[in-house]
Amino acid sequence: MSVVRCRRCDTHWSATVQPLCPVCLLESWLASPDLVTPKHHPEHRSAVHDDYRSILAPEVLDDLRATLAAAVVEGTWYYNTEYEKFNHVTRRPMDRKPGAGLHAGSTNPDRHLDDLVVADADRAPHVFADHRDETRRKITKGVYLPLETCSRSKCDNLRTPGEQKCAIHTSPPLANVDR
Ligand SMILES: [Zn+2]
Ligand SMILES: [Zn+2]
Repeated sequence: MSVVRCRRCDTHWSATVQPLCPVCLLESWLASPDLVTPKHHPEHRSAVHDDYRSILAPEVLDDLRATLAAAVVEGTWYYNTEYEKFNHVTRRPMDRKPGAGLHAGSTNPDRHLDDLVVADADRAPHVFADHRDETRRKITKGVYLPLETCSRSKCDNLRTPGEQKCAIHTSPPLANVDR
């Protein structure tokens, strides 16, 4: 395990477990103007959609900062080969079911969803909920690929999303080795 220190905010984190500073990442999520779109907002539940959709649990929105603060340290990054973007997935952040699913044409949720997804998590983050079986399917089918480790030899830190190297070896570096 390699503990590194964020060059921006001095937070320490393990770069073998998380590719980016969790504090800076959380702030970038919360600053995203499209973090919660109307489609996934429970207030707009009564709007009928032609496709299946998920809505977020009201508790998640009431407590969005705390929920995402839990997710940012517990979740796992994947590269989504379908969308060519990075998704960050957390099972039951704060021990809550983060959302529910509605079938096409329905305004009543008919299943609970366990996974909170921050899609495009390093660029234009937005949140939704997904079924754990769907997450499993995406991993099994190779839709979700795990992050690779740094291309620098003997470095087992995770690669920064979209880069070949980790937070300390990317240029300019995002973090320093903690001494
Ligand atoms: Zn930071
Ligand atoms: Zn490295």
